[in-house]
Amino acid sequence: MEQRPPVDIRPPVEIRPPVEIRPPEPVLETLRRLWSTGHGAHVVGGSLRDVLLRRVPADWDLATDARPERLLELFPGAVYENRFGTVAVRAGDEVLQVTTYRSDHDYADHRRPHRVEFGDTIEVDLARRDFTINAMAWGAAAAGTAAEPALVDPHGGQRDLATRTIRAVGDPRLRFEEDALRMLRAVRFAATLGFGLEASTLAAIQARASFAAHLSGERVGAELAKLLAAPEPSIGLRLLAATELLAVIAPELAAERGIAQNKIPGDDLWDHTVRTVDAVPGDRPVVRLAALLHDVGKPATMADGHFHGHDAVGAELAAGLLLRIRTPRADADRAVHLVRHHMFTYDPAWGDAGIRRFIRRIGRADLDSLFALREADNMGSGLDRSAHGLGELRARVAAQLEGPVVLERGDLAIDGDELMDELGIVQGPALGRLLDDLLERAISDPTINDRASLLAIATEILRATK
Ligand code: ATP
Ligand code: MG
Repeated sequence: MEQRPPVDIRPPVEIRPPVEIRPPEPVLETLRRLWSTGHGAHVVGGSLRDVLLRRVPADWDLATDARPERLLELFPGAVYENRFGTVAVRAGDEVLQVTTYRSDHDYADHRRPHRVEFGDTIEVDLARRDFTINAMAWGAAAAGTAAEPALVDPHGGQRDLATRTIRAVGDPRLRFEEDALRMLRAVRFAATLGFGLEASTLAAIQARASFAAHLSGERVGAELAKLLAAPEPSIGLRLLAATELLAVIAPELAAERGIAQNKIPGDDLWDHTVRTVDAVPGDRPVVRLAALLHDVGKPATMADGHFHGHDAVGAELAAGLLLRIRTPRADADRAVHLVRHHMFTYDPAWGDAGIRRFIRRIGRADLDSLFALREADNMGSGLDRSAHGLGELRARVAAQLEGPVVLERGDLAIDGDELMDELGIVQGPALGRLLDDLLERAISDPTINDRASLLAIATEILRATK
């Protein structure tokens, strides 16, 4: 019988041709200007990481030993960006961030350095960065050396890229104590890149999760939004739960753990939530947010295996959480609206007027999102995506929206001013009620939506209510 080898003899890293690092011309020009004036200058951080991953970087960050005042001299039109030594330099049509090499000190409140010290080498600068994959540079050192650009990788970033690993630079516990945001960044990068957390980095997050309570809601919200935009947010969401960061930043959601579900065997409510988020297409950030929060009202409403009113309670909890993490108002309102209405039911016996009332209740603009949420909810429950008559409801809604339907006051063939002129009534609650009454009738029977019919009906209503 064939014996399996006792150890894995495959090479530990993927052998690939080296990636050619070729920054765009404005970036190169800026580097050359610095090199030729005797300065060390490097492309650094996330942009280099993305190039090595064969992705297109969102922006190119540069670092140099030139001090901010020197940068202002060298680059006409450059301006100070912040007190940490970042200068915005104009290069071609672009604006580049150039930051003086620095080390960070005095993290008094577990969120930001209170003092920075400019440095003369790229190595000093790389040592302050969060993860090995973010702590590489490409460029050339200060005057005197032949300016042949090279990769600088003192912390094993290339190895960790090859093995798809997030590993803290230095002692992970100290690094997370300095700045608790790094824990959320670790989890976020795991999700967006599809990487794993190195064991001592993971253990340090578990040990230091409570420090995340020091972070501002705004920064938590920004990381959560990036996490939710990942191809598979579940990677990050499960890590948030496993490290207990979830209990610190969103106790409402942490409460979903251990709540029984009769959906997928062995799954609890949190598992269902995580699956639902993954099932929402990545280009629908608000629906992903709503998916994350759609059942947040269940833990508080659970009684006898039911969750009565969890949609209304959940909408309130969701609104509170989104306010806390400073989600932009318009997105938060839409996500809360989706949570509030995610329990809609459909009965094939509904007439067309019933379909139109449904459209009016949800609002034209949110229908597509609500359907996307329900599809994901179905998939997260182990059901067919169009279960519960969703396919048929969608088709009937689409058919209604194609016709000249009446859904809101503005769709009526008559407005408040005309009613006041024609019927001699005055502005006030009675006029509002009359308009709503006409709207209800026109939703039921769109054939009455012409000026004469509406006026006749309005006259009748007024007579009957006198
Ligand atoms: P992305 O732009 O996709 O969020 P990024 O890695 O570029 O990812 P940025 O916030 O743009 O992240 O930061 C740029 C670089 O600055 C990082 O790659 C990292 O080297 C460093 N950095 C950012 N935040 C921290 C932090 N909290 N602690 C240490 N280093 C950090
Ligand atoms: Mg960046």
